Amino acid sequence: MIPSHASVSSLSLAALRAARPVLWTRPDQAAPAAAAPYGMADVRAAHDRFVRFAPLLAQLFPELEAAGGVIESPLLAAPAMQAALGLPDTAGRLWLKADHALPVAGSIKARGGIHEVLEFTENLALAQGLIAPGDDYRQLGTPAARACFAQYQVAVGSTGNLGLSIGVIASALGFRAAVHMSADAKEWKKARLRARGVEVVEHPGDYEKAVAAGRRQVQADPRGYFVDDERSASLFLGYAAAALTLRDQIAQAGLVVDAEHPLFVYLPCGVGGAPGGIAFGLSLLFGAHVHCFFAEPVQSPCFLLRMLAGHGQLPGVPAPPSVYDIGLTNQTEADGLAVPRASDLAYGAVGHLLAGVYTVADDTLYGDLARLHDSEGLRIEPSAAAGFSGPRHLLGSVAGQQWLRARGLLPHLPRATHLAWTTGGLYVPAEAYDRFLSRGQRLAAAHQAQTNAPFLHHPSYRA
Ligand SMILES: *Cc1c(COP(=O)(O)O)cnc(C)c1O
Repeated sequence: MIPSHASVSSLSLAALRAARPVLWTRPDQAAPAAAAPYGMADVRAAHDRFVRFAPLLAQLFPELEAAGGVIESPLLAAPAMQAALGLPDTAGRLWLKADHALPVAGSIKARGGIHEVLEFTENLALAQGLIAPGDDYRQLGTPAARACFAQYQVAVGSTGNLGLSIGVIASALGFRAAVHMSADAKEWKKARLRARGVEVVEHPGDYEKAVAAGRRQVQADPRGYFVDDERSASLFLGYAAAALTLRDQIAQAGLVVDAEHPLFVYLPCGVGGAPGGIAFGLSLLFGAHVHCFFAEPVQSPCFLLRMLAGHGQLPGVPAPPSVYDIGLTNQTEADGLAVPRASDLAYGAVGHLLAGVYTVADDTLYGDLARLHDSEGLRIEPSAAAGFSGPRHLLGSVAGQQWLRARGLLPHLPRATHLAWTTGGLYVPAEAYDRFLSRGQRLAAAHQAQTNAPFLHHPSYRA
């Protein structure tokens, strides 16, 4: 049995080391008054940059023509998935933010990655006199502009999805593009990049090693630009801009977010940039009424470790901690989340704003991937399923119940919105997806047989 008064840190550490699913909630009632590194003006600027480039993007990508060059995803009600998860209506309503369908990149990386390449392009074009402020950016698609861009290299280190987004947009604009990938990157992602003329450089180690190797190589190139996933403000703000669109979508859907209508957002987390940017933007807009949780694989809980270290709950582990320091492997099928150490930039920006972090076993990701397919007919990749464990953790665990009670949220649950961010999947090849799905369907069936009240008796919380 999990003792209900166990200290949060000892419970989390033992379970964390054993790679069991855990929920950790931030203990401080009030966020420490950290000086915010960015503000609304920065988020707005990122949003406006996407708007300036939209006409050019519509020209470069036929799939964006109908949307006028806007790269966005819908906010979807998910009543059938809610039923499949066994989440009762008395606990709120399940929605999802469908970034798995984001065009061009096929994942949430379309936000940060494309924003950073657009910012680099804009600065270069202004400096070279290719455009002046206020111009029509379609001029950047002319042969003269492309000849200029061809002299520059854009590079990135990635487990896959960031590389896809940077490689595809950089090569479409006319840059030389190189993606440094770790050994766990999927073959189809490499193939998709090579088909677009992107150079794929493979590194034997993990994500951190690929980033370090890419950074070194580009530093030696005076016309090289390196997109630094661990340190980039431009990536972070590109993600944050999503909050502005989401606010409009929430209003259009007739959803209310206030003290009586809490918004819970469940964000799959790798290095922390994408979920961090989004949590940052949402907290600017919704303040204390939005509660953001990060979701990580049980073998790669890097952001959770960073939070524990920041709260003095990780004794004996050198800071900044990596998942290897506590004996975990960083091995997961959720390749978008396979990161051993969190981004300092993301931690500094949102560590004090997050409601909590939870971890998910790979089998649970596959089960939820299949549930989403069978209930709503949506196709996502394993990483993107991590959000669906959020309500399960929050409502089905002692830690979750304690947190809801301590924050005074229990009475408001019937009017709550639970938003799972589905972060990738559009370009997963059919053969790969079919394997994910059949594995998930087997697991979902086995789990259903174990219990028909998955929320209150989830296996993770049994003795
Ligand atoms: C990259 C990625 C994330 C998390 O983004 P980070 O910035 O690494 O935290 C989540 N889901 C998918 C599918 C991703 O590719």
